[in-house]
Amino acid sequence: MKIGFIGLGNMGAPMAANLAAAGHDVSGFDVAGTTAKGVSSATSAVEVADGADIVIAMLPNGDILRAVAAEVIPTMRAGTTFIDCSTVDVDSARAVAAMAEAAGILCVDAPVSGGIGGAAGGTLTFMAGGSEAAFASAAPLFDIMGQKVVHCGDAGAGQAAKICNNMILGATMIATCEAFALADKLGLERQKMFDVVSTSSGFSWSMNTYCPAPGVGPTSPADNGYTPGFAAELMLKDLGLSQQAAAAVDADTPMGQRALELYRQFVEDEDGKGKDFSAMLPRFETRGRS
Ligand code: NAD
Repeated sequence: MKIGFIGLGNMGAPMAANLAAAGHDVSGFDVAGTTAKGVSSATSAVEVADGADIVIAMLPNGDILRAVAAEVIPTMRAGTTFIDCSTVDVDSARAVAAMAEAAGILCVDAPVSGGIGGAAGGTLTFMAGGSEAAFASAAPLFDIMGQKVVHCGDAGAGQAAKICNNMILGATMIATCEAFALADKLGLERQKMFDVVSTSSGFSWSMNTYCPAPGVGPTSPADNGYTPGFAAELMLKDLGLSQQAAAAVDADTPMGQRALELYRQFVEDEDGKGKDFSAMLPRFETRGRS
């Protein structure tokens, strides 16, 4: 298949390289001039879309996605497919889907989880939104770039799933970190805390798989000085998207709102930028109640 890939950043470059390694003819474009292994470099987004059977975007946010989609969709042949793997707001995903539909292009919003390691290893999870036909056209590529895909519903459903998942993750990571900090102050050994909670009703992915306490549980960014992993500012972005979506549909999400406030404070005022999102633990350790 001839594939155009727009956005060769931390995630996009290894995803594009995996498609090329699987034998597809991939051309890529990034405004920063980045490249990917096995992918031919184009000089514009329009150039990669020209003649492509499938165009994939992996971009920073919804505004950039809308601008790129408005540029490339008119270039694409009717019946081809536009896949957006970026994490963006639900409205942008739906606006791009409407733009594509009007041009006779199939469209899938397919944000991912699994991070840079998952992108490199081809083990991402895709959460897809779009028609059955659009999903069917994209599915073979999800199988190359990932190990699990869920067709969540119509346009925007993939983004909805992603932001709901990450709202749970943000709140759970904070709860895990504050509980470790409380346990420290109560004189409870971290290993004992892990042994109990990871096999009790407080267990979670944050505790069991991505434990924020160094030296405890499986290896995680905490064991590497809190180098991301999943950066605190990306969690802040996703929590912002969750609250934007919640406001749009009048959903009451007080935990998500509080998690957003804490990550904003951490990133903007507490030196959290560039650290893994689990670095909330040392942040809590240094604080008292006020
Ligand atoms: P990144 O900043 O490394 O990559 C984005 C790339 O897009 C950059 O290289 C940038 O130069 C390029 N770009 C910006 N505007 C462009 C344009 N107009 N045309 C072409 N290229 C353009 O970010 P990333 O970590 O690769 O994340 C990409 C998306 O995936 C984001 O939406 C992010 O929220 C999401 N995501 C990231 C992770 C992660 O762990 N990094 C995990 C899941 C989802």
